[in-house]
Amino acid sequence: MTYLVDYHLHTARCGHATGTMEEYVEHAISLGLSEIGFSDHIYSYFLPKEERDPSLAMAEEEFPLYVESVLHLRQRYPQIPIRLGLEADYVPGHEESLRRILDPYPWDYVYGSVHVIGDWVFDHPDYIHRYADWDIDDLYRHYFGLIEGAAASDLFDIVGHLDVIKKFGFRPKRDPGALYTEVAASLRDAGICIEVSTAGLRKPVGELYPGPQLLAECARHGVPATLGSDAHQPTEVGSDFDRSLEALRSAGYREITRFERRKPIPVPIR
Ligand SMILES: [Zn+2]
Ligand SMILES: [Zn+2]
Repeated sequence: MTYLVDYHLHTARCGHATGTMEEYVEHAISLGLSEIGFSDHIYSYFLPKEERDPSLAMAEEEFPLYVESVLHLRQRYPQIPIRLGLEADYVPGHEESLRRILDPYPWDYVYGSVHVIGDWVFDHPDYIHRYADWDIDDLYRHYFGLIEGAAASDLFDIVGHLDVIKKFGFRPKRDPGALYTEVAASLRDAGICIEVSTAGLRKPVGELYPGPQLLAECARHGVPATLGSDAHQPTEVGSDFDRSLEALRSAGYREITRFERRKPIPVPIR
């Protein structure tokens, strides 16, 4: 059987996920997953404290408790390896403050995600009207420019939901082929891993992140890939992973990557 990991699990601490951490672990065990990792949202370190939205990410004072609770679960469930991860926003100009926040903890991996363009949380349904302010092709170029910045920052091990800019179904008008080739080359040069995320299947776009064209470019450039569900409730753990494996195989992948203390380790997919 293929060694399956789900590295993208949230917890109630982020303010918009439900269920106990134990329920996430137990659902993973019941599915027979080989390994899981929590990667809750870190608080919006790039905003002044009074502007941070407690429904988007865990509060600053929760952060050490989150790390402790993941480490505690490891003791409680020796039957499944539980990795310590985190999902952080990439915001240009705030690299050093994030580095200071990350430094003290024994991460297995850190996700870099782009959820924000300027002051626009573009993946939040409340702000969907702001797509109308953009030429869609310019928006894609801008978004993927941030992804390239995240990859090059050397802060992250995995890029989260690589093409989440498509979440609400706004697609580029021009063929994004050349853009995707450039993005895949940047990811390869940065030595960063991508995730194949099933979250997109649960969103209006109804497609894996990344879609087939971008995933094929990543495969062609030798960009490593891992698996995530972006679970915000226990039953989402490992959901639709058959679709992820099928997409990886058809893109040309023969292995996925797991992480221990920020060291990537390839495992074959069958
Ligand atoms: Zn995210
Ligand atoms: Zn997430």
